[in-house]
Amino acid sequence: MDFDFNPEQEDFVAEVERFLDEHEDPEVMDVTRENMAQIVDTPPRRAFMRELGDRGWLGMTWPKEYGGSEGEGVYEYLLNEALARRGAPQIGKGVGIIGKTLIRHGSEKLKREFLPKILRNEVEFAVGYSEPNAGSDAASMQLKATEADGGWVLNGQKTWTTSAHFAEWYWVGARTDPDAPKHQGISLFLVPLDHPGLTINPIWTMGDERTNDVFFDDVFVPDDYMVGERGRGFQYISEALDLERFTMFTYSPIQQRLELLCEYVATAERDGKPLREDAVVRQQIAQLVTRCETARVLGLRFVAESMKGGAAPTCEASEYKLFATELSKRLANASMDIAGPGSQLRVGTKDAPMQGRAESTYRYTVIDTIGGGTSEVQKNIIARRKLGLPKNF
Ligand SMILES: Cc1cc2nc3c(=O)[nH]c(=O)nc-3n(C[C@H](O)[C@H](O)[C@H](O)COP(=O)(O)OP(=O)(O)OC[C@H]3O[C@@H](n4cnc5c(N)ncnc54)[C@H](O)[C@@H]3O)c2cc1C
Repeated sequence: MDFDFNPEQEDFVAEVERFLDEHEDPEVMDVTRENMAQIVDTPPRRAFMRELGDRGWLGMTWPKEYGGSEGEGVYEYLLNEALARRGAPQIGKGVGIIGKTLIRHGSEKLKREFLPKILRNEVEFAVGYSEPNAGSDAASMQLKATEADGGWVLNGQKTWTTSAHFAEWYWVGARTDPDAPKHQGISLFLVPLDHPGLTINPIWTMGDERTNDVFFDDVFVPDDYMVGERGRGFQYISEALDLERFTMFTYSPIQQRLELLCEYVATAERDGKPLREDAVVRQQIAQLVTRCETARVLGLRFVAESMKGGAAPTCEASEYKLFATELSKRLANASMDIAGPGSQLRVGTKDAPMQGRAESTYRYTVIDTIGGGTSEVQKNIIARRKLGLPKNF
């Protein structure tokens, strides 16, 4: 098996790196915001993404009829990883999740309206599945959609909706058929986030970024803003989640944090002795390096499976997300342990070990094992779908 990239792929990476060097700007790229960097919204970041769009780098895997170039998924992967390595905005929700799901299931009207805007980066989305009583079990969502003349009226609450305070459109699941079995009574809608019936309140995370509660008060949505068929929303949401579990949890920041830790261990001393000579530390580093390689290859396996076409591969997405995000936490814990009390110094503090990244990753990486489905949920998916074990909920 060959895990290396071919010369064309290497050339593409070099081209992307050159582009990133030319556009180096702390307003646009900030590795210290860790994985949340991809969802920060500012005019320079939108402009940067538009430039990516102008170069034809957004929607590289999309069909030509919708403005894509029908390229191999590996190029999109290489681009996204390069962006993540610099703390730049990534292809994220628009291109990677909502665009791809619309291409598979959206009406021609929704495709014509949204896909060109996504490719020009003229639109940001928020994703609304979770509710106060429906997180891991998203199929229990209760946001009520009542049929009205020419559309639907939505009432209820979503929670943890990241990006709702700046995005233009809301990709949201609601219960259209309360008497149907729970997985079959949900439909998916696109709702403008400036609708007067929506109230958006902040929830601040321990990772310094904002997510939101969203309240719906008689929010009318026309029929043609229902995505796909009535009652099939949960199927579309599951497909979109498979995409999210890979696209939003990039590998290169993990590799970068490992390099920071290795650099620290190579040069720092504890009690007058070089850390690199400490047998326990050496063992920890060896384990982390091995796990990082495993995470990288699990990511490549997702890419390889995706390139066969059809929906994103469910088990590969869950295996990658579970392994990579738990590894992120493990790496953050190890960085805190190895660097001792100084590792609690924040980014921007003079002389903070690992430039303060141990502290920021310690707080931020917890989120990654929850958002997009918790680690336990990923284990349940692998147990059921891959190992054929019985369902537990
Ligand atoms: C920072 C952040 C951003 C988020 N952004 C979004 C967003 O943009 N859009 C959105 O829709 N959601 C978002 N979420 C919500 C996220 O998807 C949910 O928090 C997650 O799915 C877990 O749901 P819950 O919080 O209700 O926890 P619960 O489902 O109540 O779970 C509590 C605990 O029980 C465990 N558990 C639950 N069921 C099982 C089971 N069957 N087997 C074993 N263990 C189980 C869980 O793993 C967890 O440890 C975000 C969350 C966070 C923290």
